[in-house]
Amino acid sequence: MEHDLHLRDRVGLQDFVLLEDYHDVNAFIENLRKRFNEDIIYTYIGPVLVSVNPYRELPIYSQEYIETYRGEAFYELPPHIYAVSDMAYRSMLAERRDQCVLISGESGAGKTEATKKMLYYLAEASHHAAEVDRVKDRLLQSNPVLEAFGNAKTTRNDNSSRFGKYMDIQFNFKGVPVGGHILNYLLEKSRVVHQANGERNFHIFYQLLAGADERLLQRLHLVSDPDQYFYLKQGGSSQARRINDEQDLKVVRRGLEVVDFSQQEQDELFAIVASVIHMGNITFEEEDHITRVEDGEHANVVAQLLGCPLDVLKQALTHKAIEARGEKMHTPLSPDQSVYARDALAKAVYERLFTWLVNKVNFSLAFEEQHGQTVMGLLDIYGFEIFDVNGFEQFCINYCNEKLQQLFIELTLKSEQDEYLREGIEWEPVEYFNNKIICDLIEEKHRGIIAILDEECLLPGETTDATFLSKMEDTVVHPHFRDHKAARKEISREEFQLKHYAGDVTYSVTGFLDKNNDLLFRSLKEAMIETTNSITSTIFTAAEMESKKRPETAGTQFKTSLSQLMVILMSKEPSYIRCIKPNDAKRSGIFTEKIVRHQVKYLGLVENLRVRRAGFAYKRNYDFFVHRYKSLCPATWPSFNGPAKTGVQLICEHLGYNPSSYKLGRTKIFVRSPRTLFETEDALQQR
Ligand code: ADP
Ligand code: MG
Repeated sequence: MEHDLHLRDRVGLQDFVLLEDYHDVNAFIENLRKRFNEDIIYTYIGPVLVSVNPYRELPIYSQEYIETYRGEAFYELPPHIYAVSDMAYRSMLAERRDQCVLISGESGAGKTEATKKMLYYLAEASHHAAEVDRVKDRLLQSNPVLEAFGNAKTTRNDNSSRFGKYMDIQFNFKGVPVGGHILNYLLEKSRVVHQANGERNFHIFYQLLAGADERLLQRLHLVSDPDQYFYLKQGGSSQARRINDEQDLKVVRRGLEVVDFSQQEQDELFAIVASVIHMGNITFEEEDHITRVEDGEHANVVAQLLGCPLDVLKQALTHKAIEARGEKMHTPLSPDQSVYARDALAKAVYERLFTWLVNKVNFSLAFEEQHGQTVMGLLDIYGFEIFDVNGFEQFCINYCNEKLQQLFIELTLKSEQDEYLREGIEWEPVEYFNNKIICDLIEEKHRGIIAILDEECLLPGETTDATFLSKMEDTVVHPHFRDHKAARKEISREEFQLKHYAGDVTYSVTGFLDKNNDLLFRSLKEAMIETTNSITSTIFTAAEMESKKRPETAGTQFKTSLSQLMVILMSKEPSYIRCIKPNDAKRSGIFTEKIVRHQVKYLGLVENLRVRRAGFAYKRNYDFFVHRYKSLCPATWPSFNGPAKTGVQLICEHLGYNPSSYKLGRTKIFVRSPRTLFETEDALQQR
């Protein structure tokens, strides 16, 4: 059976390149809306998949769909994430080339769901052997574990990823998944100790309280009501309507089993989670200028859960060890400083626990390097964010999105241009906004914002967020940077504004220095190294204590790991998924034009389309074209044995194509306007 090309879907256009007026944003949005109203969430811009979050389960991801898309030519079926997965998978095998899939879009647009669907498709992409099932299970089941510890409810998304994740799936030469590896990026650890209004801490805390049985709760000295705990209740929304914490804990536990956590490791893991909950309830009082732990109960439980002497913990929370003239001294902290120390401890413990978890998962997914092995990398990273108050975290997240956007621009423009060159086709260059200028503003050596921040952190003496800001105000002159002096009405004294590619974001400098410094008092580290809990005593090491070198700042670490990520991505063949959020209410069936328009704009989708069209709407291999349309021309019907290019020429001439409306490259035909093609398709239907 000959497949219908589906050039025109049931509703709207399945590929934006077929839009008559490809400069028109309105037509672009109208096409998205038409499809969205019919529950068609996927549309192509050439090979790029645009996806609109439906906010409800659609029956389009079943095994049947997997079978439908497997091995089918990309443009033969309606757009689907499985089609993109399949194409990447097959070109990986055919060309023996590593692939990567870049999924972007703002928070709540559907990136994480897209990643999961791809992972599911790829895990299913092999025949069932016991050994494969084991790997498949691990690939799939590790996900809920990482989400439990790394995701949280925010005002934008009930399951918002608060860490960046790049996952390589390894395939053997037969295309069977044999292992995987995860790189994690900058967990938003400030959430452990503070949540904004309407938000929650990381899922795992609530899951533990809701899902643990009486015995476990007792062992951990916990009650099931999250509102009893300072670290869990600050957002005032510990119960989330769409989340079933109790059920989710079961899934997490199954996941832990699958990725080989021993019973002891699980016990210790939950003991640490519980200890963080208790840390938040430790309070301090001051008497005669001496700070003391106010109510010993929670400190006692923490000491017990982690296995460290209570007095050591108390001392570390209320004193600071300093070395003066070779002598170790303990100076007392004020109650405020003690709270600071407590929070720093909670954040450090949780962050290191998370990294430890990722390492454990990697260990269970590890696979021996083999000849002929290829990988497919899936990048699911936090999307661009603008909140009411934006801090250091948003600065890093948005910087990361700038980098990815830059990669997208470079690679799509470049590869398109390369193809025209390769095929010997002339094309008109397209104007586009290159956001490299913003990346430079943030990351440039010596002059970039991160460099200025580092300088301020490393300077001896009294530096503060305010001195950092005033240094920026004095030295940064840049079209994408504005401060209080430049716009008094919009930007207050503690803020600066960056004109990101996705919009203007005003950042509050409060906490920048502290978060960038990311220091933990020595005595707290020492206390952790001494714990009997084998996880905490592993994640804090004596080696780091001995090191004389100052650890890298958080900003610089992030910058370095991003640039390494770019190198990884550049070395692979990319595919793109651009996710769009249809409304701000997290609701199905609502398509808010203003919100969609904004995303279409900053994701550069129309520019993407223009580049794609730079002259030509449609391109196909000669073989494909002849095979499909040979019946329309007597010279090629019923069979044609000459070179495919000649066949194409004959067909075009017979159909009366205007010579200026198409070009013949080395291996492909390029057709300027979609209309030509529609007419050809119609002719085919009428036969
Ligand atoms: P992001 O990772 O981009 O922040 P998510 O992938 O977590 O966003 O999506 C947010 C929510 O939207 C999900 O929890 C889910 O409820 C819904 N969602 C996203 N994509 C889909 C989809 N393809 N089908 C059904 N629901 C979806
Ligand atoms: Mg996500």
